[in-house]
Amino acid sequence: MPRIVQHPERTLWVQAYVPEAIRGLYTTLRHFLRGLLKYETLPTIPYPDIKPPIPEDYRSRHRLLKRDDGTPRCVACGMCAAACPARCIKVEAGEHDGQVEKRAICFEIDHLTCVFCGLCVEACPADAIRMDTGMNSFVHDNRQKFLTNMEDLLRF
Ligand code: SF4
Ligand code: SF4
Repeated sequence: MPRIVQHPERTLWVQAYVPEAIRGLYTTLRHFLRGLLKYETLPTIPYPDIKPPIPEDYRSRHRLLKRDDGTPRCVACGMCAAACPARCIKVEAGEHDGQVEKRAICFEIDHLTCVFCGLCVEACPADAIRMDTGMNSFVHDNRQKFLTNMEDLLRF
């Protein structure tokens, strides 16, 4: 069914052009002065000095969890890497260390390729990886630095 768009009425006042142009300039000036003199009343946040709150379930940068004895929970099963649609997780398994059958000796996430879908967290059978660090903005001066290694992932 066609949708009829209602156009505002073009009165003589509107068609005179000048009054409407002055009204537009007045609106611009009003916003400019508000930003200059009372910027705390604007509906914006002076980021990054003040960071807006993020929801609890927001998928932020990953972290790897540890057991009570401080060792990583990850058992290098590779389920996260298999579930990852961006193929940005690299896991290398190491030998039996007396406690667990397998452990990760290398765990890397390429945060330039990651699409923050959370499928790795869903796939992990050991609850060893989470995306709850709250870090939603990270900036580096080098592409290599977006490659987050196991030490970094275990730090949070
Ligand atoms: S959040 Fe998604 S894209 Fe990023 S590492 Fe996990 S599965 Fe891969
Ligand atoms: S983080 Fe979880 S899913 Fe990924 S390799 Fe370790 S135990 Fe397996």
